[in-house]
Amino acid sequence: MAKGSSDIVVRVAYGSLAVGIVVLALKAFAAWATGSIALYSDALESVVNVVTALVALVAVRLSAKPADASLPYGYHKAEYFSAVVIGIFIAVAALLIFREAYFGFIAPREFKLDPLGLGVSVLATALNAGWAYWLLRMGRKNHSPALVADGRHLTTDVVSTVGVLVGVLLAAATGIHQLDAVLAALVGLTILWSGWELIKQSVIGLMDVAVEPKVLGKIRDIISANADGAIEAHDIRTRQAGKMIFVEFHLVVPGAMSVEAAHAICDVIEAKLREAVENAQITIHVEPEEKAKHSGIVVV
Ligand code: ZN
Ligand code: ZN
Repeated sequence: MAKGSSDIVVRVAYGSLAVGIVVLALKAFAAWATGSIALYSDALESVVNVVTALVALVAVRLSAKPADASLPYGYHKAEYFSAVVIGIFIAVAALLIFREAYFGFIAPREFKLDPLGLGVSVLATALNAGWAYWLLRMGRKNHSPALVADGRHLTTDVVSTVGVLVGVLLAAATGIHQLDAVLAALVGLTILWSGWELIKQSVIGLMDVAVEPKVLGKIRDIISANADGAIEAHDIRTRQAGKMIFVEFHLVVPGAMSVEAAHAICDVIEAKLREAVENAQITIHVEPEEKAKHSGIVVV
């Protein structure tokens, strides 16, 4: 990501926080006005969004800091730590909802179809839908997986709120008030699922996950197409840290080749890799022919 686009990502993160706070206020009002457990769960989900936006904002700003002497590989993994914290918050919100749903199921509470409350909930959902669309558009334009993930998450929120609203109307129409608690539990399940996914992804990131096979294939192709003068490349390893991609491998050259000539080959490969793989950090270990493993990519 270029500097300009990371500025945009920070600005969009501020926007998500503002939208999250407004939507939370609207949904809290809707829950209070109707007394519905399902709408209360929906409002709790909005608390999750505000916390998520806040932690994401801190992480985005922190991970944009340049590397320094004490953290020479940069601050990119800050995003993973923040995501783990968010995941735990999300799981706690889900547990609170399950608790409410359980008590609501064994002792169904009356709720009223307050038109203002329901109208405000529809307004909050429309706001969320608009922001989700914007996030997906900006995320795709700026190649930011974080923004796209955020947009997808908001989209599922919109779908679940629509489901809750339809369900509350159904519960009122059929007189089966336990439906309200059942819907709340369903909202809780989707929230728990999104928390689990987030924690899983972040832990994988903290464990230095390799790039996807497709990207690794591209890296291999670029090395073999641009290693004129070298004999082979082997022991290719990759790892991701936020938006950064670290690539390292061994490059076998004839033993009599000068350091200068070997370094020139490395520079060509590095330039081509950086062109094709965004935010690539490349380290190449050069070794003489007698060390060749003949197990890597033969480039000559
Ligand atoms: Zn080697
Ligand atoms: Zn160099």
